[in-house]
Amino acid sequence: MKKVFVTRKIFSEALERISSFAELAVWPEDFPVTHKALLAQAVQVDGMLTMLTDPIDAAVIQLGREHSLKVISQVAVGFDNIDINAATLASIPVGNTPGVLTETTADLAWTLMMTAARRVTEGFDEVRRGTWRPYALDTLCGADIYGATLGLVGFGRIGQAMAARACGFNMRVLYTQRSRDLEAEKKYNATYVSLEDLLKESDFISLHAYLSPETRGMIGAQQFAMMKPTAVFVNTARGAMIDSAALVAALQNGKLAAVGLDVFDPEPIPADSPLLKMPQVVITPHIGSASLQTRKRMASMAVENLEAGLAGKPLPHCANPAVYTSRK
Ligand code: NAP
Repeated sequence: MKKVFVTRKIFSEALERISSFAELAVWPEDFPVTHKALLAQAVQVDGMLTMLTDPIDAAVIQLGREHSLKVISQVAVGFDNIDINAATLASIPVGNTPGVLTETTADLAWTLMMTAARRVTEGFDEVRRGTWRPYALDTLCGADIYGATLGLVGFGRIGQAMAARACGFNMRVLYTQRSRDLEAEKKYNATYVSLEDLLKESDFISLHAYLSPETRGMIGAQQFAMMKPTAVFVNTARGAMIDSAALVAALQNGKLAAVGLDVFDPEPIPADSPLLKMPQVVITPHIGSASLQTRKRMASMAVENLEAGLAGKPLPHCANPAVYTSRK
């Protein structure tokens, strides 16, 4: 029977399904798997079911290739924790879970946007502290979402799901990415602009690109300086896409009004981060796709990828399809 290593506890039904076609080992700890443990598993398993917190670098992949590793199946749409080039070179397909988490993640991005804009956590903090002041016209005034301009950096699945929500809020939608998508522009009445124009013109800016050498640190001091001082900035993509020191400085200097973050670099956010003391900052602990139905669908999709890979079949959702064309 083939051997599989699952790098984090997952839903029991997913584990049962894996047990029906493979011998199973699960990382038992309540923290992400270590690089050392991955190296130890790479020499003995045929497949790995991985999380976005796992350092699947070239060393792990190379070792796996020298033994019997046939597939890496990631339970996430993003796979920036995996050295994808090394996997392709080693002819190891990498699975991911696109699509099933799109709406759930857009829901969270929208929630952060509205929460930050309307100062919901500041209001709740007052209520919880027992300092709810008598009604006054100038109490906790935030920004209107309805009719405002939304700038989407990355207009793929989740970016477009944000644009769909923006239609109901009568928003003007701007987007930027490397390639224009004329069909989506028409569908969502969106306008393609440069990153610079998007930052200057948007009332709300939300990141939805994937992490790559090009997008790493793409929003820094220069970009924050271009934003409107009233802008609300949201990141549900990846923490490393923004320069967090520049974000802190921008907030301290009034370069933007509020921020909603679901991702950070590093995660968890350090306890001494100045962001945690700023009232205009809303942070959730990387829960973009965390609805029960969606997380179960992601696990199920990852198991399908794993099973196909072990059987030597093409993965239904493969992050490095070049692995099939480049195979000898
Ligand atoms: P997607 O459909 O692949 O969309 C990503 C978009 O990013 C593409 O349309 C791409 O367009 C654009 N892009 C790439 N490089 C860019 C650049 N340099 N500048 C601007 N845009 C760029 O992916 P998705 O399914 O929407 O997911 C997006 C990301 O969200 C994932 O990779 C993941 O990191 C993150 N995510 C987070 C959570 C969470 O829990 N917080 C959940 C799901 C996903 P071009 O190629 O034309 O540039």
